Amino acid sequence: MEKQRIKHDLVQMEWGNYYGREVIKNALKIVNDPDQAARKEASCCVRCYYVTQVGGAAMTTWYCGICGAKDMHGSTNTPCLCKACAKDNGLCFRCGADMELKNRRKQKWTITD
Ligand SMILES: [Zn+2]
Ligand SMILES: [Zn+2]
Repeated sequence: MEKQRIKHDLVQMEWGNYYGREVIKNALKIVNDPDQAARKEASCCVRCYYVTQVGGAAMTTWYCGICGAKDMHGSTNTPCLCKACAKDNGLCFRCGADMELKNRRKQKWTITD
């Protein structure tokens, strides 16, 4: 594989600057958690709430990793858990992480087949 040469100019530099600043902006949001109340209400961890996620554009059927409920999602980047299971267990519905990002010693939930 060979990639075409991209002649480096001010526009290329500005794109690099833009992406760098976006990463810093997102990192500060993750650290400062400015929308904490809304984020917790949505059962979403700091990473999933503040970092843009990419998924393929296709309606996708998915199943909750705890109760097995079937649902539809607007992209291939489906949630891990239904909102009820996420909220009941203090987990992020998107990725399944603990809402405080703490490793717990005991699994509170029971998997339904
Ligand atoms: Zn569920
Ligand atoms: Zn998450």
